[in-house]
Amino acid sequence: MNTEKSIKAFQEAVKHIPGGVNSPVRAFKSVGGDPLFIQSAKGSKITDIDNNEYIDYVASWGPMILGHSHPDVIEALHQTAINGTSFGAPTLMETEMANLICEMIPSIESVRMVNSGTEATMSALRLARGYTQRDLVIKFEGCYHGHGDSFLIKAGSGALTLGTPNSPGVTKGTASDTLTAEYNNLDSVLSLFNEYKEQIAAVILEPVTGNMGVVRPTDEFIQGVRKACTENGTLLIFDEVMTGFRVAKGGAQEVLGIRPDLTTLGKIIGGGLPVGAYGGKKEIMDHLAPNGPVYQAGTLSGNPMAMAAGLTTLKLLNSTPDFYTQLEEKAQFLSAGLQNNLEQLKFPGVINRVGSMFTLFFTKENEVQNFSDVMKCDTELFAKYFRLSLESGIYTAPSQFEAGFVSIAHTKEDLQKTIDASFNALKQLK
Ligand code: PLP
Repeated sequence: MNTEKSIKAFQEAVKHIPGGVNSPVRAFKSVGGDPLFIQSAKGSKITDIDNNEYIDYVASWGPMILGHSHPDVIEALHQTAINGTSFGAPTLMETEMANLICEMIPSIESVRMVNSGTEATMSALRLARGYTQRDLVIKFEGCYHGHGDSFLIKAGSGALTLGTPNSPGVTKGTASDTLTAEYNNLDSVLSLFNEYKEQIAAVILEPVTGNMGVVRPTDEFIQGVRKACTENGTLLIFDEVMTGFRVAKGGAQEVLGIRPDLTTLGKIIGGGLPVGAYGGKKEIMDHLAPNGPVYQAGTLSGNPMAMAAGLTTLKLLNSTPDFYTQLEEKAQFLSAGLQNNLEQLKFPGVINRVGSMFTLFFTKENEVQNFSDVMKCDTELFAKYFRLSLESGIYTAPSQFEAGFVSIAHTKEDLQKTIDASFNALKQLK
């Protein structure tokens, strides 16, 4: 595959952009080689500036559940832009968006729009602290909640990939307010509750992780966390920035049957534009300004373009009766094919999948259930597999510690081609 133009573009980009990228994992650091520069995307495919076409499982890191450039989303953006792109005053679309989110995720009674997932989690934590009048938060090793200071402690995603799970620049004071526990280890949470009685404002977690690869919580763990939060007057925050509207219409909370106190959202609700949101019980949300004393604001919050793309996406998800059944079938077909490859080639590996999120872990373990299992993966082998996949026209996240995303635009042919390419790559790596 000729990627000459991308190579040159990257040489230009590094001159005035740190590392040549505006978000670190995009740089392909842990897999080697230069990143591809993308010129366009349509449906399940993206095309780089050298005109190579790839089947895309990055999906802009999750938002593109309808596939790229969905005609309804593009039309909504055109129509909205004609009337003006930002007013800094209420619009009808914001109320419509709030109503739809509350309808689709019943634990949310009131919701505030922001501009990114990072803003959503930072704001939700501030609200939890303001509401409980406590300072401490429990997060889990390998979970990523954006780049707010409180969350860059044992963080997943790019921070983990690049070997900086604890970022310099976070003050000792802030870091000491974040306690960390092990995912799928209820005792690690209960012992923190024991040690820091009546000091813990919130427990935040990815209710299905994507940022250390896909890991599903056990029932015992997630039910135990819910119970411990209730008993201790601590708010349970589900960070559904990735899983919201992705693993089911009602997010991971629907799949798990658990009601969090607060939920953070992003990615899909922006339909490919920059958006985040956080919401939950009205009684808690009413502590936000202008009703209450907890301050949070935003010049572009509820931006019309973002609302138009997000609303169009959510309405389609909500009104297409078999949308999630179809998506599940596609993802199931892909993961079964990948699993079959591993078995046929006797290649060690584990595939975790929840709905349309999946990860192929390069590990000799039989299962991947927590952060220490994840850390046993062979990242060098992953890097080789990644490069072989890319060469055969399959675009996946350039890190072992991420999820792949199936969209409704992936055809059976795309999925079969991906399974075949994976078989060939694994065969070469044997
Ligand atoms: N929370 C989770 C679970 C995420 O996956 C991400 C981003 O990947 C974030 C928060 C941060 O969102 P953003 O990148 O929009 O700031």
